[in-house]
Amino acid sequence: MKILLVEDEREIGGFVRDGLTGQGFVVDYCENGREGLELASTQSYDALVLDIMLPGRDGLSIVKLLRQRQNNVPIIIITARGEPEERIEGLNLGADDYLAKPFYIDELIARLRSVWRRSAGDGLSVLHLDDLSANLMTREVRRGDRAIDLTPREFALLVYLMRSPGRVLTRTQIFEQVWDYHHNPGTNLVDVYVRKLRNKIAEGDESPLIETLRGVGYRIQSAAK
Ligand code: CA
Repeated sequence: MKILLVEDEREIGGFVRDGLTGQGFVVDYCENGREGLELASTQSYDALVLDIMLPGRDGLSIVKLLRQRQNNVPIIIITARGEPEERIEGLNLGADDYLAKPFYIDELIARLRSVWRRSAGDGLSVLHLDDLSANLMTREVRRGDRAIDLTPREFALLVYLMRSPGRVLTRTQIFEQVWDYHHNPGTNLVDVYVRKLRNKIAEGDESPLIETLRGVGYRIQSAAK
C-alpha cells in the first residue's frame, strides 16, 4: 500500500512515516498542505493521512477539493486533541475516518486497512450504470429506490452486460458466458431472457438501457450517451 502522509510536526511525521515503513507501507511524506494537494492530485495512492493544521493549505480544504474533483482515495485525518468540530467537518467533507493525537501506530494501520477494505469492497462488489446497480455479494439489484427481483439466470445476464457497458455482445457470446454452453442450440433463448430482463429493469418511462442491435446482438448503455 502506498500512502501519502501530510504532517508539519516533524516529530509526529517522522514517527508515523517510520512506523508505516516498518510495516511494509510505501510512504510519501511532506510537511506542506499545498505540496500535499499537488502530490495527491498527480500521484496514485491507496490512502492519504492528513493533518488538519498545515502551512500552505489546511487538511480540510484538501479533503474538500479532492472530493469535489471526484477523487475517492481513502482519507484519514489526524486531529489535535480537543478539535471535535474539525473531526466532524472532516467527515462531512468526505474523509473516511479520523484519529486524534496522540495515537498508536498500530491503530493508524488498523484504520488504514479498514478504510482500504471498505473502498476496495465497494468498488469491486457493486456494478453501476446510471441509477441501476447490481451488488455481486448480496445479488441485490436496484433502479434508483426500486428493488428489482431477478432469477439467477437473469442476474448473471445483467452482470455480464454491465461488465461491458457500451460494448455490443453477440447472442453467441452471451449464450456461452451466461449459459456456459459451447454451442448455440439455435433457439431464441437469449432473446427471450434479454426481453424479460429489459422489462424488469425499466418500468414506466425509465430508459430501457439494454439496446437491441438487429442481427448483431445486445448492449447495455448509459441513457446519457
Ligand atoms: Ca499541524
